[in-house]
Amino acid sequence: ADYMYVMKCSKDGEFTQGELSRFGNIQLSPSAGAIYEGTKAYRKENGKLLLFRPDHNAVRMQLGAERMLIPSPSVDQFVDAVKQTAYANKRWVPPSGKGSLYIRPLLMGSGPILGLGPSPEYTFIVYASPVGNYFKEGIAALNLYVEEEYVRAAPGGAGGVKSITNYAPVLKALSRAKSRGFSDVLYLDSVKKKYLEEASSCNVFVVKGRTISTPATNGTILEGVTRKSVMEIASDQGYEVVEKSVHVDEVMEADEVFCTGTAVGVAPVGTITYQDKRVEYETGDESVCQKLRSVLVGIQTGSIEDTKGWVTCIN
Ligand code: PMP
Repeated sequence: ADYMYVMKCSKDGEFTQGELSRFGNIQLSPSAGAIYEGTKAYRKENGKLLLFRPDHNAVRMQLGAERMLIPSPSVDQFVDAVKQTAYANKRWVPPSGKGSLYIRPLLMGSGPILGLGPSPEYTFIVYASPVGNYFKEGIAALNLYVEEEYVRAAPGGAGGVKSITNYAPVLKALSRAKSRGFSDVLYLDSVKKKYLEEASSCNVFVVKGRTISTPATNGTILEGVTRKSVMEIASDQGYEVVEKSVHVDEVMEADEVFCTGTAVGVAPVGTITYQDKRVEYETGDESVCQKLRSVLVGIQTGSIEDTKGWVTCIN
C-alpha cells in the first residue's frame, strides 16, 4: 500500500510523535541485525594490527546462513571485508594492551516480505567499534548463576547460529542474575535441565585434574572460535580435552571452571551458584585457566610467536 506509520522510541520508553510517510526504504542503524559475527583487531607492541582467525568467523556465518536460508558471502569476500573495515578504522584500534577494535559483520534481510520465508534481498555490513579490555582492573573471576527457569536453545532449533534471535531468551535471565550480583548466567539443556550448555556470550570449560571437559556442540550452543583455539592450546600443553555432555554435578565438583569468547578471552570462574549450593573454584596465577589465557592472549596480541598461523597482519 501507499503509506506507513513510523514512530521512534527511546530506550527509556519515550515515544516521539509518530508520522505517516510513503511506504519505502527507511534508514536503519546497522545494529538492527539478523545473523552476525564478532571478531577483534589487536594492536601489537610495534603498532602492527592483527586479526585473529577471521576465516573461522566466515565459515560460521556460512553455516548459520545455510540454517537460516540466507545467502552468504564467500570466505574470501568475508575476510576481505573484515580486513578492509579494520584497516579503514585503524586509528580507532587502541594501543597494545589497552583494548581492541571489535568488528561486527552483519547479514540482514533488507527486502520487503510478509510471509514466512527468506527475504528477497540481503545486505552484508561490517562495522567496528573500539572496546576496552573486558577486565578493566586486573582479571576478576566471574560469579555465575545456574539458570533453571529460562532456557537458551532447544534441540533441533537454531541455537548454534549466531542469530540475533538467539539472544532474546538471554536478556531477561541475564538482567535478573546481574541484579542479584552475578556476572553471568550458565544455561542448562532444555530437556533434562541437568547438562551444561554455555553462558550468555561465551563457552564454558570444566577442569578436573589434567582433564578439561566442555559441552559438545550439538546445535544448541555456539561453536566459539575461542573455544576451538583454547582446546588446541590445552591439548598442546598435554591436557586431555574432552567434548561431551557435562552434568551440572560435575561442574559443582570441578577444580576449575572457565569461560571463553571473543569478549572475555579466557576468563576464570570464581563461584557458581546452583539451587541452594555455592561452590568456589581455583583462579590463581597457577590455574589452568590463567596458563591457557596467557598463551591465547599472547598469540592474539602478538607478544607470543604465532606458530599456528592464527593471526593475520593487516598493515
Ligand atoms: N556463545 C555465545 C552465545 C556467544 O555469543 C559467543 C560470542 N560470539 C560465544 C559463545 C563465544 O564465541 P567466540 O569464541 O567465537 O567469540
